[in-house]
Amino acid sequence: MSETESGSDLAAVRTRAVRDGEDYRLTGSKIWTSHAHRSTHAYVLARTGSEGGKHEGLTEFLVDLSSPGVEIRPIYDLGDEHHFNEMVFDTSSYRPPGSSGSPATAGSRSPSSSPSSAAAWNGC
Ligand SMILES: Cc1cc2nc3c(=O)[nH]c(=O)nc-3n(C[C@H](O)[C@H](O)[C@H](O)COP(=O)(O)OP(=O)(O)OC[C@H]3O[C@@H](n4cnc5c(N)ncnc54)[C@H](O)[C@@H]3O)c2cc1C
Repeated sequence: MSETESGSDLAAVRTRAVRDGEDYRLTGSKIWTSHAHRSTHAYVLARTGSEGGKHEGLTEFLVDLSSPGVEIRPIYDLGDEHHFNEMVFDTSSYRPPGSSGSPATAGSRSPSSSPSSAAAWNGC
């Protein structure tokens, strides 16, 4: 979820997911992502709409981190330990696994979302 200008103020998220047919184009970056270098997938909060307040138009995607255009950059702490990462997204085409096609409407939650399907909910 976290971005450089979006920590406590999560609704300031700037990572975007733009619909491209059945797919999405995901662009932006996340920071402080714990253990992304050891993970196969990550939940990524992205802006999918620009209408309404800043708490609207947000969708969470379950992203396969091996997808083309996904880069995991290590961040080393003062003890030279590697727990955190920056995740950079510039996917030309990302299809959420099991996607039903469209993000949940503002304020709704998708109860059928499971780890194997596209997790999408707004109004977080
Ligand atoms: C051990 C660790 C693991 C983490 N792992 C992850 C992870 O896996 N994924 C992920 O997305 N993020 C992760 N984070 C990041 C974490 O979620 C953010 O640090 C957190 O959201 C705060 O954001 P920030 O660091 O940008 O601080 P800021 O939002 O800049 O806040 C800085 C300070 O200002 C205060 N503050 C902010 N806004 C206000 C306000 N309106 N009024 C009063 N005080 C305010 C805060 O309380 C804080 O003390 C991790 C952080 C840590 C420490």
